Amino acid sequence: MSHYNLLIDGTLQPAEQYDEVFDPATEQSIGHSARASRAQIDAAVDAAQAAFEPWAQDPDARRQALAQAAAVVRENTQAIAELISREQGRPLHFALGEVAGAAATLEHYANFTPPAPQVLRDDAQRLVRIERRPLGVVAAIAPWNVPIILLVLKIAPALHAGNTLVAKPSEYTPLSALLLGQLLKDVFPAGVLNIIAGDGQVGEHLARHPQVRHVTFTGSVATGKRLYAGSADDLKRLTLELGGNDAALVLDDADPKAIAESLFWGAFWNSGQVCFAIKRLYVHQSLFAPVIDALVERAARTRLGSGLDPQSELGPLTNQAQLDRVKALVADARAHGAVVHTGGEQPDRPGYFYLPTIISGIGAGTALVDEEQFGPVLPVIAFTDIDDAVRQANASPYGLGASVWTSDLARGEAVARRLDAGLAWVNQHLDIHPGAPKGGVKWSGIGYEGGERGYDAFSELQVLNIARPGA
Ligand code: NAD
Repeated sequence: MSHYNLLIDGTLQPAEQYDEVFDPATEQSIGHSARASRAQIDAAVDAAQAAFEPWAQDPDARRQALAQAAAVVRENTQAIAELISREQGRPLHFALGEVAGAAATLEHYANFTPPAPQVLRDDAQRLVRIERRPLGVVAAIAPWNVPIILLVLKIAPALHAGNTLVAKPSEYTPLSALLLGQLLKDVFPAGVLNIIAGDGQVGEHLARHPQVRHVTFTGSVATGKRLYAGSADDLKRLTLELGGNDAALVLDDADPKAIAESLFWGAFWNSGQVCFAIKRLYVHQSLFAPVIDALVERAARTRLGSGLDPQSELGPLTNQAQLDRVKALVADARAHGAVVHTGGEQPDRPGYFYLPTIISGIGAGTALVDEEQFGPVLPVIAFTDIDDAVRQANASPYGLGASVWTSDLARGEAVARRLDAGLAWVNQHLDIHPGAPKGGVKWSGIGYEGGERGYDAFSELQVLNIARPGA
């Protein structure tokens, strides 16, 4: 099928305009995504509003539908994963993992029991109880780097808590989300889950819609700030999961050969297009050369290829704009005196590929170190003093993740606790526990996704205070 339609009010709706979606490995068109008109965005929100009351009042129906959604996603894992690989570029085995994670998330919420209402007083005169209430219509807006799991991490808890939802994937990777809508069309009552598509203007119209009570957004800091400002008029609730510029610190007692593989994947998984990938690597001076050598050796033998080629370890960047940004950052680093140890160019093939690149000779003040590259290029910076390394790691407006690499776990933990980051690892980077609240400090976000704190974002509290007769 080449035309993918919108899910609005339980029906698949065509659009007046379709956007072509390209395979970043071949630059060939792979399908057409319906672009929601303003009237269709409004219709989706209206449908979600109309579906809200009965849905909010039926927790059993919510659990059953989420369990059924998990089963449907699981049955269609291959088809969804192939579409992710084709539109996003990632090797299929990683995309299969993403879809398995989405099914597990739906299942987790199908079986999830929220904390019981807290009773503050219950005697002859009074009952005072804290209840959770859903917010109403939630708008969920996602980026292109991990398109399905990032949407499902919003859809599952929001629907479980009794909200209804309008979801919008990125314009670069809309097809897998529209396929998800097609597959889940009859799983939820009409209007409970709506999936629309389009660019930032569609997202903005949705996010500002007066009936939307909560916006849950994953994407760039720039868009997050814009949404934050735009929500003020209506005092909408917001969850913002934004960009990162994660530092990893390799201490003087680490074993370069033993950690090279994990460091490599921490930086280069999904070709570096991960919010909490390693984006700056600080290495103790005594290990600087061996760490660079080990990373260069690993990067140089990486198999790049189409997501559907079983030999591929890394795919292309997902779009031309991201490739152009990575190229510009490397050119700027070179202008600042960078040494390019491996990579630093596009391979000679079609598609938005860029060779895994290891760079040194630059530090703070160069965009590749100060900003989020979101691509397969890693700057490596030497340090001699751990306090100075911590200071450099924290000298950033971002604070998503950070890691420490050492053979002394107690020392690793002590350093990790000093890092300004919502996720702090020792001897790993990227692993997220399914029960963990994922969120960033500073510009990396507001609020959490996952865990109790993440679930809480989809409810408000009501204190029910009942005077008993004769009191
Ligand atoms: P982006 O901000 O450009 O777009 C994200 C989504 O917002 C897209 O669906 C887009 O259409 C929509 N959008 C754009 N402008 C909008 C507006 N004015 N109003 C409403 N919606 C709008 O981000 P991107 O380039 O797609 O994603 C990459 C960024 O996402 C990186 O910075 C990455 O670090 C971040 N990210 C963060 C996390 C996290 O959990 N913290 C996870 C993945 C990606």
